[in-house]
Amino acid sequence: MESTALDILALAAHRDDVEQTCGGTLLKMAERGYRTGILDLTQGEMGTRGTAEERALESAEATRILKVSWRHALDIPDGRVENTWENRLKVARVLRHQRPRVVILPYWQGRHPDHYTASVLGYEACFLAGLAKLDISQTPPIVGSSVSFYDLGALAHEGVAPHRPFKIVYASLYQDVRPTFIVDITDQFEARMASLMAYKSQFSDQQAGSGIFPAQAEIRARVESMARFYGMMGGVTYGEPFVQKEVGLVDDLLAIPVKSI
Ligand SMILES: [Zn+2]
Repeated sequence: MESTALDILALAAHRDDVEQTCGGTLLKMAERGYRTGILDLTQGEMGTRGTAEERALESAEATRILKVSWRHALDIPDGRVENTWENRLKVARVLRHQRPRVVILPYWQGRHPDHYTASVLGYEACFLAGLAKLDISQTPPIVGSSVSFYDLGALAHEGVAPHRPFKIVYASLYQDVRPTFIVDITDQFEARMASLMAYKSQFSDQQAGSGIFPAQAEIRARVESMARFYGMMGGVTYGEPFVQKEVGLVDDLLAIPVKSI
């Protein structure tokens, strides 16, 4: 299989994390003609609701809605995302093969250890993937990928060239932190909501876990409120927040968006 480089790869701990934090942005970029991808580190076997198999099918539907070109779930244990050498290599191999220019990581602080660990793990894997002398062709092939719906056969071939993404941005929706920039997802908001609701095992009204999972109407209200809040910060209707560690670079003062006063 000949691989085609991704423009953007979003990495997250759990299936549906990307849909919650930057799904609208991915859809918007796909609509602009960019190739987008999602790497889920786990398969969701520890969830209170639904099995890993159910979540795989739901994930496939969400992927279709967001017009994502490539998606894969690694076999890192759910609830036990650890920043180990082995896990960094697993992610680095995907980065070398998919060769994204932009990587979206979760914000590096948060409530769920899987989320902030995925952030650091993802960052370090981006660094590793670019090391010219690091040969990762001998690492074991990715296992537990039965739920993948894209051919990963080519990942097993040797000699994937070093690759380091140009840009890393952090999806910060889970964390109460001031974003560096907002992506206007006004036109993508409904589709992003639909991609989230595709995870029926998680978000449809049901008895299991009803003490900890809000009802569907409440979820919609929350998701909409957050998108409105961040949209307002950017002067648009709905938005998704991001943090970048670097400064912004301006060429033309008259082209800077977002009104000051
Ligand atoms: Zn999560």
